[in-house]
Amino acid sequence: MKKIVKTVLGISLGILLLLAVVIAVRTARFSSHQVPAERPTAVTGDMQAAASHLAQALTFPTISYDSKERISAEAFRNLHQFLETTYPRTHEVLTKETVNEYSLLYTWKGRDPQLKPILLMAHLDVVPVETGGAWHQPPFGGVIADGFIWGRGAWDDKSGVIGILEAVELLLQQGFQPRQTVYLAFGHDEEIGGLNGAAAIARLLAQRNVRLECVLDEGHLVSDGIMPGVKVPVAFIGVAEKGSLTLELRADSEGGHSSMPPRHTAIGILAAALARLDEHPMPGGLTNVTRSMFEVIGPEMPLTNKIVLANLWLFQPLLERQLAASPSTDAVLRTTTAPTMLEGSQKENVLPITAKAIVNFRIRPGDTIASVCAHVQKTVADDRIKIRTLDGTEPSPESPIDSRGFRQIERSIRQIFPTALVSPGLVVGATDSKHFAKISDGTYRFLPVVATAADLPRFHGTNERISVTNFGQVVRFYAQLLQNLDQ
Ligand SMILES: [Zn+2]
Repeated sequence: MKKIVKTVLGISLGILLLLAVVIAVRTARFSSHQVPAERPTAVTGDMQAAASHLAQALTFPTISYDSKERISAEAFRNLHQFLETTYPRTHEVLTKETVNEYSLLYTWKGRDPQLKPILLMAHLDVVPVETGGAWHQPPFGGVIADGFIWGRGAWDDKSGVIGILEAVELLLQQGFQPRQTVYLAFGHDEEIGGLNGAAAIARLLAQRNVRLECVLDEGHLVSDGIMPGVKVPVAFIGVAEKGSLTLELRADSEGGHSSMPPRHTAIGILAAALARLDEHPMPGGLTNVTRSMFEVIGPEMPLTNKIVLANLWLFQPLLERQLAASPSTDAVLRTTTAPTMLEGSQKENVLPITAKAIVNFRIRPGDTIASVCAHVQKTVADDRIKIRTLDGTEPSPESPIDSRGFRQIERSIRQIFPTALVSPGLVVGATDSKHFAKISDGTYRFLPVVATAADLPRFHGTNERISVTNFGQVVRFYAQLLQNLDQ
């Protein structure tokens, strides 16, 4: 007996030791993927002037509303006019087309017409201002104060529009002509889905049989202090974005007076269905994008995280449990379920004839509208609930991370933000770039705006601003990227 115990103990100890060795070796071999931070070579111009151009662009209230009548045609036309007077060389050399009245498409002819073109994009519209009184500077005042350019659109996304145009104007000043044709696409309705703006531009290019080498749109930022366990800023390049699905769930009943309700009311039936959806989220897990993100970020993390990330063959379930614990990381793991609207009767003593709920899903790459609908049917499992699709977009395809486009975006980020780590990432929101997926070999989502955790509420919120220094980096990033892509 003693001998058997000894043998079992010996074998277990041996296995443990082997496991420890494998873990240690894998951790030791888990080395940095960061490309060296080369010296920037991009042209630089008058960054104070660039900042004042952005400030002026913020004075045009190009707000997107769901109801068309509220959109100010004047604001968009004035912004177009402003761009034309501020960037004379760009408007002389590039061809400008106006699409659906307010969107702009510029074509910068390349030296080599055989090469596939690239497309840089940003959007002209902004979200409304809900809290005008709480702003330190008026949201459409175009004020530069305390080293910041303040206003709605300062980072989302007029920093992109003005940053790109400043870079192009600077390069033109130097006599630069790109090797491959460069398109600049500025949609006017990104904040409400981009159907009349970016989607129309993409259709136009598709009709002309344009096949793009790569697309760069807004998306992730240079986030500073947001990634747990990483002390330096992280610049994620979004290589995929989630899709979206909005379903209406409806339960009907007889109605009547609330003093004599049936055993199960429309609201009760609907609430039970919602509770089941709440209890049973879509199954999640790492996908290609999230796995490559951890492979790139992992080596830069403290030892304990590094051990886990270098040994996903063993620790993946542990990592997934940890990620699922917080809403922001759970969102990269799975298709999320969010009931957002509820409707019953109009009066406290009237039973509703119809109870309705709106549920919004953000679909992770790997899932589809059909698979989410199937999950909902199976989970609700009640034929008294009528399910109707109101709106849906499939998740984007995953763009390659070994393409020339990705490599040059990565290289340019390291040149302009040498302390930042660069990693592929998943965008959990939606961008206009989705409209170009069909005509592009790679779609990337990154805006060179630096943000700390404290800045995040400014996004679509109050006191949106960008520092003058950071805006200089935005301009230099786009100039550097255009130069790098030329090689
Ligand atoms: Zn935006």
